[in-house]
Amino acid sequence: MQSGEKHETHTLPRLGISQCLLGEQVRYDGGHKCDRFLTTTLSPCVEWVPVCPEVEAGLGIPREAMRLVGLSDEPRLVTIKTKKDHTILMQRFSQKKIRELTSLQLDGFIFKKNSPSCGIQRVRLYNQKGIPSSNGVGLFAQAFQYALPTIPIEDEGRLQDAGIRENFIERVFCFFRWNTLVQQGLNRGAIVQFHTHHKYLLLAHSRPHYQELGHLVASAKLYTPKELALAYSTMFMEALKVKATVRKHVNVLQHLLGYLKKQLRRIEKQELQEVIDDYHRQLTPLAVPLTLMSHYVRVFDIAYLADQVYLHPHPKELMLRNHV
Ligand code: SF4
Repeated sequence: MQSGEKHETHTLPRLGISQCLLGEQVRYDGGHKCDRFLTTTLSPCVEWVPVCPEVEAGLGIPREAMRLVGLSDEPRLVTIKTKKDHTILMQRFSQKKIRELTSLQLDGFIFKKNSPSCGIQRVRLYNQKGIPSSNGVGLFAQAFQYALPTIPIEDEGRLQDAGIRENFIERVFCFFRWNTLVQQGLNRGAIVQFHTHHKYLLLAHSRPHYQELGHLVASAKLYTPKELALAYSTMFMEALKVKATVRKHVNVLQHLLGYLKKQLRRIEKQELQEVIDDYHRQLTPLAVPLTLMSHYVRVFDIAYLADQVYLHPHPKELMLRNHV
C-alpha cells in the first residue's frame, strides 16, 4: 500500500523505502530493482513512503552512474565518467528530506543495498588510486541514521535472511505500537500496560533491558512525559535489536507453559513440552510451539497471556516464524 498525499491516518506501520525496490523505474539507467517479498507479501501490511534521493535531488533519469570516493568519515558522491561531485547537492537534499520524513513519523525504512546514496553498510568506497573497499555508507542513508537513530532500518539484501527479516519486521511493528501510544497521549498507566504486554517479547531478546525498562517505568514520576517517552523508546528499541536466540525462546516458552500448568491435563502438558523440545533441537520452527501455546491460551481464555505481543508480534500472513 503506497502513501497518498495525506498522512494524517496511520493505521498501518509507515515505512520509508528506496523507491526502486517498489519497481519504480528511477535508477540511473532507467531500470528498477523490484523486490517481490516487499511488493507482494509485505505491501498489504504496511504503508509505503517511497523516496529516491538521487531523483528527488534533481539528478534526473537517466543519469550518470555515481560512486563514493575518499575517506569513510567524509565520503564524496562523484559521477564515474565525468567526475562531477554531487556531495553538497545530496547533503542539502538529505537535510530537507529528513525534516519532511520526521514529520511523517516513520516506523521503519528499507534501503537499497550497495547504493552510494541509499546503502546502509558495506557500500564500495574508492580511494584516490581507484581501489575499492567496503567501508562506505550511502550519503542519504548515513544522514538518515544520524538524524533518526531509533527508527528500525534494513536493506533488501539483509532481509533475505529469515532471522534478520523476522527481527526487522518485529521491530517495525513494535515501534508502530509505541508511536501509536505516544500519539494517543502518554501517561504512566498506558506505559505500564505497554511494558506488561511486551514482557515475554523483551525477555526473548534481553532480560537486562527488560529489567531496566521496568525500573524506568517504576520511576516515571521523575520524568516529564517527553523525557520518559524518549528514554523508554530508545531502550525498548535497543532491547529488540539484541538477538533472540533459540535458548532464550525456549526459556520464554517454558515460562508460558508454567503459566498454563494448572489448566492443562497431563497429556496436554506432555505434548506441549515435546513440541518445545523439538523446537529446542531445531526439528521444528518457532511457529509450532507458539501455535499450540496460542491455542491453549484461547481455549482457557487467559487474558494476561492473550495480551502478550510475543504470541502475535506481526501479522500471521507474513509467516515469519515459520522460518526461524
Ligand atoms: S538506490 Fe536509492 S537513489 Fe538509487 S535508484 Fe534506488 S532509490 Fe534511487
